[in-house]
Amino acid sequence: MIDARLVERLVDIVGPKWVLRDSNELHVYSFDATPIVQAFPDVVVMPGSTAEVAEVLKLANDHGIPVIPRGSGTNLAGGTIPVQGGIVLNMTRMNQIYEVDEKNLTATVGPGVVTGEFHKTVEAKGLFYPPDPGSMRISTIGGNVAQCAGGMRGLKYGVTKDYVIGLEYVLPNGQILRCGGKNYKDVAGYDLTRLLVGSEGTLAVITELTLKLLPLPETKRTLSVFCTSLVDAARIVERTISARIIPATMEFLDQATMRVVDDFSHLGLPRDVAAMLLIEQDGPEEQVVRDVERIVQIARSEGAVDVQMAKTPEESAKLMTARRAALAALSRLRPTTILEDATVPRSRLAEMVEAIIRISEKYQVQICTFGHAGDGNLHPTCMTDERDEAEIARVEQAFEEIFATALSLGGTITGEHGVGMTKMKYLSQRVGEGGIELMQAIKAAFDPNGILNPGKVVAKAFRPRMVVRQP
Ligand SMILES: Cc1cc2nc3c(=O)[nH]c(=O)nc-3n(C[C@H](O)[C@H](O)[C@H](O)COP(=O)(O)OP(=O)(O)OC[C@H]3O[C@@H](n4cnc5c(N)ncnc54)[C@H](O)[C@@H]3O)c2cc1C
Repeated sequence: MIDARLVERLVDIVGPKWVLRDSNELHVYSFDATPIVQAFPDVVVMPGSTAEVAEVLKLANDHGIPVIPRGSGTNLAGGTIPVQGGIVLNMTRMNQIYEVDEKNLTATVGPGVVTGEFHKTVEAKGLFYPPDPGSMRISTIGGNVAQCAGGMRGLKYGVTKDYVIGLEYVLPNGQILRCGGKNYKDVAGYDLTRLLVGSEGTLAVITELTLKLLPLPETKRTLSVFCTSLVDAARIVERTISARIIPATMEFLDQATMRVVDDFSHLGLPRDVAAMLLIEQDGPEEQVVRDVERIVQIARSEGAVDVQMAKTPEESAKLMTARRAALAALSRLRPTTILEDATVPRSRLAEMVEAIIRISEKYQVQICTFGHAGDGNLHPTCMTDERDEAEIARVEQAFEEIFATALSLGGTITGEHGVGMTKMKYLSQRVGEGGIELMQAIKAAFDPNGILNPGKVVAKAFRPRMVVRQP
């Protein structure tokens, strides 16, 4: 519990308007997009500058108070749940785009900039920032970087870590440091920029980011490919890539997801096919036309029952938006939606999808699957009801088996959503005990008092102060 004197010190640092203590406000910050887990902070602080972040951290560090950095709270791994109470540090006031440098093709921004707004700003200048998580209309760049978010364009363009070239960050003791900058090449010392990307708020608070930009692709085309078997869909993905064509997007939706997305978005998708691939290619007109023709040939030769090309940019945007709404659409089915993140080498995609179906039947739980097929990154999503303890126990068993299968196929427990608190129990299976010990040593070097986002990623003990069920 933070005493009144410390709260007054926080008010002195950021101003009374930016310290939230009301129980309704604290309730808002007691959960994020992750189902079932919830815990209340003591106070929420919204800093407006790096200097304020440094002062808050120093105060918290001196008094051993947990600090949980937070963007928009859209993560799906419990990453912003204040499991030991303390201060939730809401970074959304630091939302300035400081510079779009058209000579160096970089942008420098505050962590609270909303991803979709950043896209619009750079695209208006003919530039392109590819990382596009499904949550991009709400998520922040700071959250994307701390989580190393992926998205639908990851296949051709990579993920957030491929675009972060410089950071300003604050250590728990209040020290303000920088790594990287505008240089595209920089090997001076250990690559702390890469280390901080994906550190999930456990090492430092990121206060400014320098991002790499690309020229905006000249044109794009969107295809919907419908298949009567999951294996056909997976083979189309494999054959396209082995034909040396790398589409910007190659998304997969199984039949159950397609139906729900269609009910939600009214696209008129067929109801009787087993799977859909949503494929987008971008680039110079001539190359896009050539690639699309070749993809259509491959799809037909691998048994696709129908291939449709979006006729207008609006139609193509509608398809992509509908795919981004898959989680929202599925969450209408039952009270609790658990979206997971099993990832395999793309050549093992069909085996993984079939295993998920088998496992959901074995445990009698409802799991739909969609995801970034080109990256082998699947989102098996379970529609359940957290009030039914017996069912939740079966869901846990099913996911345990799904992750074990992904690992046995050479895959991983998370492709883009991070470890947070919900994947901690699987981490040693992926990185080994030695890997965890090394990560804990890194954590201790940055944060010797363990105040930053405690109970997450590599925490030694997971002791939630208060985890209650959602109402
Ligand atoms: C509908 C939906 C679709 C999604 N689609 C995708 C997708 O396609 N790809 C994908 O990768 N993810 C996806 N996600 C997950 C999530 O949106 C991303 O992880 C996103 O990057 C989180 O951004 P945020 O601003 O909400 O961060 P938050 O959830 O607030 O925080 C995420 C993590 O970053 C830390 N953090 C936040 N800001 C800072 C900072 N300034 N300094 C240090 N640490 C910080 C937090 O402590 C936490 O550990 C989706 C989520 C939803 C709900």
